[in-house]
Amino acid sequence: MKDALRVGISGIKCDTPTCDFIDMDVKVEEYPQWLNKPCPKCGANLLTQEDYNTVTVMMDMMEMMNSIFPQVEDSSQDVRMTVTMNGTGNVDFSEISFPTDKKTNG
Ligand SMILES: [Zn+2]
Repeated sequence: MKDALRVGISGIKCDTPTCDFIDMDVKVEEYPQWLNKPCPKCGANLLTQEDYNTVTVMMDMMEMMNSIFPQVEDSSQDVRMTVTMNGTGNVDFSEISFPTDKKTNG
């Protein structure tokens, strides 16, 4: 059995449109170390306090919801979504994909 909702927040990226700095190896547990750290490429703030607050709230929400929802079978498919933040504390939920009803062998 697994949690009904699992969050896969990871990676850190620069919010400057002209900068392509991204490090997907950063774990969400390591975010406090990145708080208000300058981008190695352009010097912009990589993780603002606003974004960090948003991540913290989202993690708390997931925990709360998992304590309410029953666990699900390991074989059940996940709803996946990509969460994008831009330094303002606002979150953009994009690329949400819902599991299909198709039977898979996996
Ligand atoms: Zn940058």
